[in-house]
Amino acid sequence: MGLLQKHLGQLEAYSGIRRAGADPFQVAFDAVLSPTEGLINGKRVILLGTNNYLGLTFDQESVEASVEAVRRWGTGTTGSRIANGSYGAHTQLEQSLASFYGRKHAMVFTTGYQANLGVLSALVGRGDHLILDADSHASIYDGARLGHAEVIRFRHNDPEDLYKRLRRLEGQPGDRLIVVEGIYSMMGDVAPLREMVEVKKETGAYLLVDEAHSMGVLGEKGRGLAEAAGVEEDVDFIVGTFSKSLGAIGGFCVSDADDFDILRVVSRPYMFTASLPPAVVASTLKSLEKVEADGALRAQLMANAERLHAGLNALGFTTGPKASPIVAVVMPDLPTALSMWNGLLAGGVYLNLALPPATPNNRPLLRSSVSAAHTPEQIDEVLAIFEWVGREFGVLPSLDQRAAG
Ligand code: PMP
Repeated sequence: MGLLQKHLGQLEAYSGIRRAGADPFQVAFDAVLSPTEGLINGKRVILLGTNNYLGLTFDQESVEASVEAVRRWGTGTTGSRIANGSYGAHTQLEQSLASFYGRKHAMVFTTGYQANLGVLSALVGRGDHLILDADSHASIYDGARLGHAEVIRFRHNDPEDLYKRLRRLEGQPGDRLIVVEGIYSMMGDVAPLREMVEVKKETGAYLLVDEAHSMGVLGEKGRGLAEAAGVEEDVDFIVGTFSKSLGAIGGFCVSDADDFDILRVVSRPYMFTASLPPAVVASTLKSLEKVEADGALRAQLMANAERLHAGLNALGFTTGPKASPIVAVVMPDLPTALSMWNGLLAGGVYLNLALPPATPNNRPLLRSSVSAAHTPEQIDEVLAIFEWVGREFGVLPSLDQRAAG
């Protein structure tokens, strides 16, 4: 028996998924033509499954900054910042992030995943409590494991449940850190942050907000949910990523916490991995300037989100209740989800198939996400393809059934 046979259950499920059509977990692009179009197996598809919320991956100035940096500084740093040194641009990016958020400190990680791992594992450890929304991203759960704090989960987006669980800890030693996300990556819903801040204040806990999907998307200046909800002063730590609205890769944490820089020598996912390559830092710096300066991109993004959300609901699909750049279409079961996903791809729409247990309430989802770069015509084309495929696979009533009804 081979080492991988212990995953037999998953292997069987995965084979079933592969038998149903294209492999949703191994999609390969022949080309990416723009932030909203790509080629898969020679077929042009609309990209509706990225996190490219502002469409900045092909921003001319960001691309140029990246090209110049790679020529000047080379392709990679080949090591971690504590062992092999920082480049000026790493520090510059940290200064820009601190200034963007109006915070004293910022620290950059090589991915957003590592930012959560590095920050959570260093802020709380044995004897402390980490209070997590049940629908937290895997990087938050993994950060919890790395730090050995005791994990308590509260019901998704439920401040009352959060309060109840914190009250039960009264009198126990150790620190408590609440972690919530600005926009949740599967359903696109937003945390009730003001209410959570009230709970935090009443119970003396610290609060960390992961703004991975909300940075560049929410708030007048694009700082995320804490800005939009007017509670930035009450959020102790903000974590985010460069891989979504900033169109690159990397993660960060900003804070006003005293002695913040100690993180650099206690956070293993910062210390024991190579730092961001110069080209990535350069494009991120440029894109951050755009996020700060260009509120029009955010307005366009929200208009596109509303168009897609309203259109899907008008057709009769089940989505989350509110428009958001992430619009998840709930599927009744796995076979239908697979058929729909394959049908959409064949029809010219690429989006994400999200399966339990990564999805809330164990329902399969077709996770779509819009970009400021989509045109209204592209969204309308997506809706037309959704309608056709939905009728084909019985998620929507067929036109004959409708006429009969
Ligand atoms: N936090 C959240 C909420 C996320 O959704 C993700 C990625 N989807 C991450 C962190 C990790 O970010 P990255 O992909 O940039 O490593």
